[in-house]
Amino acid sequence: MRQDGVDGRSSMALQIGIVGGGQLARMMIAPAVEMGIDVRVLAEQSGMSAGLAATAVGDYRDLDTVLAFAKDVDVITFDHEHVPQDVLRGLVDAGVAVHPGPDALAYAQDKIDMRTKLAELGLPQPEWAAVTDAASLDAFIAEHGGRAVVKTPRGGYDGKGVRVVSSAADVADWMDGLEPGAALLAEELVPFTRELAQQVARRPSGDLVVYPVVETVQQGGVCAEAIAPAPSSAGRLADVAAEIGEAVATGLGVTGMLAVELFQTGDERLLVNELAMRPHNSGHWTQDGSITSQFEQHLRAVLDLPLGDTALRAPHAVMVNILGGPSEGSLADRLPAALEAHPSAKVHTYGKDPRPGRKVGHVNVAGDDLDDIVYQARAAAAFFTD
Ligand code: ADP
Repeated sequence: MRQDGVDGRSSMALQIGIVGGGQLARMMIAPAVEMGIDVRVLAEQSGMSAGLAATAVGDYRDLDTVLAFAKDVDVITFDHEHVPQDVLRGLVDAGVAVHPGPDALAYAQDKIDMRTKLAELGLPQPEWAAVTDAASLDAFIAEHGGRAVVKTPRGGYDGKGVRVVSSAADVADWMDGLEPGAALLAEELVPFTRELAQQVARRPSGDLVVYPVVETVQQGGVCAEAIAPAPSSAGRLADVAAEIGEAVATGLGVTGMLAVELFQTGDERLLVNELAMRPHNSGHWTQDGSITSQFEQHLRAVLDLPLGDTALRAPHAVMVNILGGPSEGSLADRLPAALEAHPSAKVHTYGKDPRPGRKVGHVNVAGDDLDDIVYQARAAAAFFTD
C-alpha cells in the first residue's frame, strides 16, 4: 500500500508503521534510524514515549484511522497486542502487510485460545481449564490441591487480571461480570523454582533465530530483572527452551519477535506461561548484550530482511528495570550521578513521567563477571528511584 515519495520522505527508504506509542515502539526507532528505515507511529495520544518518530495520533480500534495510517508503509507492526481482530483483518483485506498477522496475534490476545492451541501442538504447559461458573472453578481448585491461578483471558498485563485463589468466591466479581459464552482461565498454581523467557525471531519466509534463554525475576507480577543467559542453563535446559520457542513461533505462525515466558519446575520441566508477539521486557538486555538487539531483530523480521546474529557480546548480560522513578524531579536529574558512578551501565529511559510502579526505564550491563554486572545494574538503576 506504499506510495513512494510522499511528504518529502526518501522514496528509497523502507517504511514501517508501528501501532502504539509506548516504549517498545520508542526503542525500535534507534535501530531503524541506523538502518535507514523510516518509522511512523500511530500513538494513542500525543506526548508518548515513541513521539520522537513521525507520529499520528488516533484510535487503533478504528479501521479507517488505521487504514489511513497504513497507506504509505511497507509493513504494519505493533507496540502492543490490543488491536482488534476486525481492524487487523481489515488491513490484510486492503492488501497491507501486517506482522505479526491476525491469526498469530489472536493467540496473544486470548489466553484460553493460547492454551487450546498449545495443547493441540502438544507443548508443555500448566494444567488448565476454561471455567464459566463457580461450581466448575471450585471443582478445578479441589482437584489441584485447594489453590489455583485464575486469569481473565483478555486484556491482562503486568499481573493485572491474575489472581491466586482458594475458592471461586475470590473471583466472584470477575465471574459475575462474564459476558454470555465467555469464560475465565483456571490454571494449576505451578510451584516453579524460577521464571525464564525464550526470545525467538521469525520472518514471514519462515527463517528463524533464537536467543539464549534468560532468567526473569518478577516483583508483584512485574518484571524487575533479566539475566542472560539464565544461570545454569547451558546444555539441555537451553536446548529445550529453544525447541519450545521454535515450536511456538512455527506452530502459531508468528512473525517478528516472540517472547515465550516459561516456568521451570523443581523436576526440571519447562511449562509455557504466556506469549508476547513483539519485543518484550525480558529481551531488553539484547540492546547492549547481544550482537543484534530484539528491536533491530523485530524490524528485520517484519520487513522480511535477513535476521541478525543472536550471540552474546559478553559472557553475561543483565537488565534491571527502573520502576516508578523518583518521587520528586525527573529521571534526567538523576542521570549524571548514575553515569558517573557506573560507567559500564547503559541507561535507557522512556520519556515517561514517574509514577509508582510504572516502567520508566531500565539499565543494561554486560560483562565477564555476573555478580559484578548484577551489582552495577542494580546500583545504577537505584539512582533513579528513592
Ligand atoms: P500477565 O499477562 O499480567 O503478565 P501472567 O500470566 O504472566 O500475567 O502472570 C503474571 C505472573 O503471575 C507470572 O509471571 C507468575 O509469576 C505468576 N503466575 C501466572 N500464572 C501462574 C501459574 N499458573 N502458577 C504460578 N504462578 C503463576
